[in-house]
Amino acid sequence: MLSYEQARNKVIEEIGKKRGPRATTVVSVWDAPGLVLAQEVRTDREYPPFDRATRDGYAVPSKEAAAGAKLKCVGEIKAGDTVKEALAAGTCLQIMTGAAVPPGADAVVMIEHTSREGDLVRFERAAHPRQNIVPKGSEAAAAQTILTPGMRLGYAELALAAQVGAVRLRCAKRPRVAILSTGDEVVLTDEIPGEFQIRNSNSVSLAAQVRIAGGEPVVLGNAADRIDDLGEKIERGLKEDALVLSGGVSMGKYDLVESVLKAMGAEFFFDAVAIRPGRPAVFGMCQGKPVFGLPGNPVSTMVTFELFVAPAIDLLSGAETRALPLVKARLAEALREKPGLTHFLPARVEWRGPAPEVKALLWQGSGDIATLAKANCFLVVPADQEQIEVGQSVSLLLRKDVV
Ligand code: AMP
Ligand code: MG
Repeated sequence: MLSYEQARNKVIEEIGKKRGPRATTVVSVWDAPGLVLAQEVRTDREYPPFDRATRDGYAVPSKEAAAGAKLKCVGEIKAGDTVKEALAAGTCLQIMTGAAVPPGADAVVMIEHTSREGDLVRFERAAHPRQNIVPKGSEAAAAQTILTPGMRLGYAELALAAQVGAVRLRCAKRPRVAILSTGDEVVLTDEIPGEFQIRNSNSVSLAAQVRIAGGEPVVLGNAADRIDDLGEKIERGLKEDALVLSGGVSMGKYDLVESVLKAMGAEFFFDAVAIRPGRPAVFGMCQGKPVFGLPGNPVSTMVTFELFVAPAIDLLSGAETRALPLVKARLAEALREKPGLTHFLPARVEWRGPAPEVKALLWQGSGDIATLAKANCFLVVPADQEQIEVGQSVSLLLRKDVV
């Protein structure tokens, strides 16, 4: 049985092999957060476009503004003012943050380090060349490539594009991910379940996870635990870029997902992973499309999505895979787990003290969504660790949707 790292690497390797050019579309910067860029973006001019003052103060020739020196202030420069004329010897100009430093000045002295009597400005400490000035072109040259294909557009990247006037961007289309739940006990979310039925909450969590991971969810509803119904709905799901199923991958008599996929020509790369929850997770290729069979217990579905499906969506989006958001924390309450499988326990990490502290939450197992909704991470207990003491360093997988 593969470890979760091996299984995740297998997904990355197999989908990496099939990676072709992505369909693209042009999107406004306002609508592009989280998309993956499919073009280069170049500067339209140098940045900054002029020598820019970074403080409110006085523009001076540094060699004339020694400690105790006085210079006559002959005017002011506001941000946005046109600045052409050179500063005359023996004078200074009041200048605001963001304004252009005039020729002849090579330093800006902060107003806090000066005193003023009428026109005369007295400098309390010596000015240094280039002080409080960002030189023209020091952030980027003209026509320099600043964003490249495959980059994910976060707020900084989008601001950079907007700064150079690239307000419409060619981006990869979000991969369409079909979501199909299975189970005779499952009713649609807008139906009233019978006493022994349950609502299809997995479709909702999976759709949210697909969206957060950068995909476009295509929710196909629920298939009965019957070969014909499963076959038809899987066929429909294979029209999308990837298919994610929940349920029907365990050892029960009515767990038919793997056999139906096999009959449709699927090749499997794993059908079990050494984790709890989530052990019966399946990954394969069927008719050229990646297919994930995730166990149906809601927390198993959620964990296995984060471990195995999220990196697939990264690759299908034309980006590199993002690392799992694993961080270290100090264990606040001792733990005992059965060895053999890597456990992902709903847990809460707090940043109150000098180091983050984490505590596993008491839960009822992989069906317990209520406890997961109180958690902000999964505490990762390695397969070979039986007992962990208070104060030991442990790994957590952050729930990046809530922290
Ligand atoms: P399975 O993996 O098909 O054996 O499902 C395991 C358990 O997960 C079922 O007994 C249900 O309690 C639960 N489950 C399965 N599918 C869903 C779903 N779509 N939404 C919520 N819970 C589900
Ligand atoms: Mg089932």
